Order: sequence, then structure tokens, then C-alpha cells
Amino acid sequence: METCVVCDGELTELGTLGNRLHLRCRQCGSDQSVLIEPKPKGRIQMTEALARAASQDAGNRSMKKSNRTSWSREDYNEAVQEFNRLWPEVTP
Ligand SMILES: [Zn+2]
Repeated sequence: METCVVCDGELTELGTLGNRLHLRCRQCGSDQSVLIEPKPKGRIQMTEALARAASQDAGNRSMKKSNRTSWSREDYNEAVQEFNRLWPEVTP
């Protein structure tokens, strides 16, 4: 349990906002907040950069499979498809 930095009193939880837990002291009424460590996730969090890297790999895989040294339209499509699968965000 967190204690007040001002008076060492007991803190009540007001709630979390973003990655901060907001607290109020029962004794002096001062508001404080502590940073909450994000919970470790079992799987890797997908990011746009990661999706791009993976789609690059997919394109290269497709290229090597067909013994090409540069991307064909087919390889490019393969990469785009993989990117859209991993990062299905609609871009305007
Ligand atoms: Zn206090």
C-alpha cells in the first residue's frame, strides 16, 4: 500500500488515468499519483514498425522462393498483404 509523501498517511485510490494511479491522502487530503508499470504481455505487442519489418520479410521470402533478386509485383503484393494482415488500420 502506498503512503502519503507529505504526512505518511494512508492513501485511497481515486482511480487510474493512463498509466498513472491517482491517490488521495486520508489524513491531509493531498493528491498524489504513481506510475503504474504496464503488465508484461504474453505476446509481443504489434506496432506499425514491426508490421513493416514483417511485411518486408514476407516480400523477401516470396522473392527468394521464386529465385528473384529484386521484388516483383507479386512479392510486393505479398508484402502489402502481410502488412495489412498485421496492421489492419484504415488509412485515409
Ligand atoms: Zn498526507
